[in-house]
Amino acid sequence: MILVSGCLLGINCKYNGGNNLSERVKVHFKGQSIIPFCPEQLGGLTTPRAPAEIQRGDGLGVLKGKARIIAKDGSDVTDEFIKGAHETLRMAQLLGVSQAVLKARSPSCGVDKIYDGSFSGKVIPGDGVTAALLKEHGIKVYTEENFLEKNN
Ligand code: SF4
Repeated sequence: MILVSGCLLGINCKYNGGNNLSERVKVHFKGQSIIPFCPEQLGGLTTPRAPAEIQRGDGLGVLKGKARIIAKDGSDVTDEFIKGAHETLRMAQLLGVSQAVLKARSPSCGVDKIYDGSFSGKVIPGDGVTAALLKEHGIKVYTEENFLEKNN
């Protein structure tokens, strides 16, 4: 069983009401037992919603209370992102999930690289909040860009 960011499968859970369909993810997991999820929706945010980025830190910093997540409209959505991460972890633990394929660079789902908080597309090292929490609990996390390479 594997968790997959819903937007990669074509589910319209992205901030703008669209998705991030990855044909290679869709084709690879067709017919397999997967759990599509969206931590931002699980945290109580609406779709569509304002895009948000982690300010002055990464997902681990957010979990430790050292960084915040601010949406482009100025609202602080840190609590919702943290809630969504914990709901995702709860689901993973309930179902015995050991791996996740997550959307690259997202402030929730990004693995090893995230946007820098300036809404300019610039990327810095770090995990999104959900990726950081899953990693901390021993769940292997990949993105749509590297899941095939790392599994082969
Ligand atoms: Fe996709 Fe994750 Fe963003 Fe949800 S939170 S839209 S699953 S990248």
